[in-house]
Amino acid sequence: MPELPEVETIRLGLSELLPKQKVLAATYDWPKSFPNEPKTVERFLVGSTIESIDRRAKVLIIHLSTGYSLLIHLKMTGQLVYVESEDKRFGAGHPNDSLIASLPNSTTRVIFELERWSDAKSSGANGRAKLFFNDLRKFGWVKLIPTVEIDQLEFMKKLGPEPLGDFVTEQMFIDRIRRRANSYVKIALINQEVIAGVGNIYADESLWASGIKPTKRVKNVSEKRLKLLLGNVKEVLKLGIEKGGSTDKNYVNSKGQKGSYLEFAKVFRREGLACSACGDIIIKIRVNGRGTHYCPTCQKR
Ligand SMILES: [Zn+2]
Repeated sequence: MPELPEVETIRLGLSELLPKQKVLAATYDWPKSFPNEPKTVERFLVGSTIESIDRRAKVLIIHLSTGYSLLIHLKMTGQLVYVESEDKRFGAGHPNDSLIASLPNSTTRVIFELERWSDAKSSGANGRAKLFFNDLRKFGWVKLIPTVEIDQLEFMKKLGPEPLGDFVTEQMFIDRIRRRANSYVKIALINQEVIAGVGNIYADESLWASGIKPTKRVKNVSEKRLKLLLGNVKEVLKLGIEKGGSTDKNYVNSKGQKGSYLEFAKVFRREGLACSACGDIIIKIRVNGRGTHYCPTCQKR
């Protein structure tokens, strides 16, 4: 599942393409992927203009001129592919050939037909584009809701603060993670109610950077080290965004160019290799079913 840096990479890419485009039509054939009333779609999506692209945790939010927004969660196998012409595409999400092959295909759940203002206005002709939402396993979704209701959604209300937001404080993080005193620190860290957007990759990396053993109970991690952990969560997420996300989660253009974060990872998928800090061998264990990578020497505390 994409984590915060992968979704942020998609947001940045779509922000270059979608604003000011008009939605001409939406076609969908799988209610679970697009659980919206046709009437609402006709009234508030069709004919609207895309204003901006936002993100909260791992959810992409496309704001429309009608006061409605599209919320998109890619889950395990979701993809968004924008196609303007053969040589102008942007695809991101679950990596398979759908990102670069011809569309729609059997995994396509929603197609948005778009009209974009031509760059050369004098020509008078507006171009067309399409945005495909593909999802092989159908766990992802696209929801159309009034923008003012987004914060009132149950899962939005429960979400912890954005780790890269201005208002997250050390105390806020400590209070939230301490509510899970008996949890393993790794499991508490990937809980979206503690802090938003952190999943397996960035949890393992920030625990390594903080010298914390993933199977330590939250109650046994010192306050000082939890502060250090928040700082490292921010650092690894920033690096992830800078590198365009992790290699296996994103393609950022039509040539299948990938994010490169995993080349910079210190422990994730590096089991059996030497730790760059101490030379000990990185191991992989399961923590509540989640594959977890760590250095037994650096992460004793
Ligand atoms: Zn080490």
